[in-house]
Amino acid sequence: EKVNFIGFFRTVAERFEINQDDHIHFEHHLPDKEVIVWIDKDKMTQVLDNIISNAIKYSPEGGTITFHLEVKKQQQKLHISISDEGVGIPKEKLEKIFERFYRVDRARSRNLGGTGLGLAISREMIDAHGGEIWADSKEGEGTKVTFTLPLLKQPQGDEE
Ligand code: ATP
Ligand code: MG
Repeated sequence: EKVNFIGFFRTVAERFEINQDDHIHFEHHLPDKEVIVWIDKDKMTQVLDNIISNAIKYSPEGGTITFHLEVKKQQQKLHISISDEGVGIPKEKLEKIFERFYRVDRARSRNLGGTGLGLAISREMIDAHGGEIWADSKEGEGTKVTFTLPLLKQPQGDEE
């Protein structure tokens, strides 16, 4: 379905902000115009739910979670990133977290709950949307998860 991703993203993110009593701050860097993409809203909601709840789960109290949405014109893609100031992920594990049932630190993660499926499912769904997903991280500083979505042809108003 054809969707303005910016409005859609705001709605999904808002639910987390309203239900948040863990003293986590949210920062938004979103374009102020519409960005039209073709998505399955239910599946994309699942992807965002997982990435945002991971960011919250691994954030310290008082941490900031930053949402950054940016159109990359040359690539005709929208980049969506969710950054946290949490524990981080060791460099050599950054690809593994997208494998089924993989969890970085079983002892630590056990307390936090989860099965290790969220990111594996997210990657499948982003693949199905023609996008890519990856993670960058610095241990002890935080993690950034980024995914891309192809842009639908925007109306070309001001073209000669
Ligand atoms: P589930 O999503 O199935 O409830 P989960 O959150 O443990 O369980 P994934 O979302 O697939 O599973 O994440 C896999 C692992 O990657 C996590 O267990 C955690 O070790 C690591 N991870 C994911 N996101 C972050 C993050 N923002 N900061 C630190 N570690 C993370
Ligand atoms: Mg998860």
